[in-house]
Amino acid sequence: MKRRDFMVASGSALGAVAMGSCMTTRPSRPSKAKSIMDRVMTYRKVDAHGHLLDPDRPDELLKAMDLVGIERAAISRPIGDNPDQFREQNDAILRAMKMHPDRLLGQCYVNPLHAADALEEVNRCLGEGMIGLGELYTHAKISNPIYFPIVEKCIEERASIMAHARADLSLLRPHHPETTPATTSASKDFVELAKRYPEAIIIHGHIGGGGDWEHMVKTLRDAPTIYVDTSGSCTDEGMIDFAVRHLGVDRLLFATDINFETGVGKILAARLGEDDRRAIFWGNFNNILRLRGQHAD
Ligand SMILES: [Zn+2]
Repeated sequence: MKRRDFMVASGSALGAVAMGSCMTTRPSRPSKAKSIMDRVMTYRKVDAHGHLLDPDRPDELLKAMDLVGIERAAISRPIGDNPDQFREQNDAILRAMKMHPDRLLGQCYVNPLHAADALEEVNRCLGEGMIGLGELYTHAKISNPIYFPIVEKCIEERASIMAHARADLSLLRPHHPETTPATTSASKDFVELAKRYPEAIIIHGHIGGGGDWEHMVKTLRDAPTIYVDTSGSCTDEGMIDFAVRHLGVDRLLFATDINFETGVGKILAARLGEDDRRAIFWGNFNNILRLRGQHAD
């Protein structure tokens, strides 16, 4: 499938929703595009890395998920640095989860530099039914010891830990001009944490989040317990195939990071067997959720 065909197909679907009740006739779609959407809807999908943009309108998120057949999504709001701010974001996620318990899975966002408040917030969020942590951001590298008490709590709770990752040259080579904060986690930082805590359920955020994704994938071969989510706005051809070849299909988790069409399209475009595609779209993350009893059937 060509990515352009998919964009045409899903773009017309989005347009139909935007026009709402004013629309009296449906625009005709090329039959080829229709068959692509049929294929999109063939697969059950759970999104391992999503966000709630408008905290007051989770219904809008569900509409977008429906257009590409995403049944469940893990969501967070990684905004703000101080404890009042991260509590407020997590409150919004908890409200959305409670409105749509079958579809929205909460991920708890904290700034670990406020160590005591962050640990207390993780306890609160997991106690309220969130599935784990996410999207941990650039306050500290994921291997920083400040995270250790939080990671140990997540191990105890069988809760996943998803963090923002990039592979900019500034993170990989000394003295290269900085293009992202130096406290951004790179693959080697995830590997360091996984070697210390091999029992932790660590999810390396967005393979397509920016930078040298081949380096990213090759580095992660050193820590077989780390999962990688497939989101990110970089959609180079062969990215998913490369990750499957080097890491194995069981370590990849479908995700969109709210790039819905490209998120789905890159999994459809990869050269995968049907069982492998289903594992990435659904089975692998559902099995992680199963560890905490939060899976679907
Ligand atoms: Zn991110």
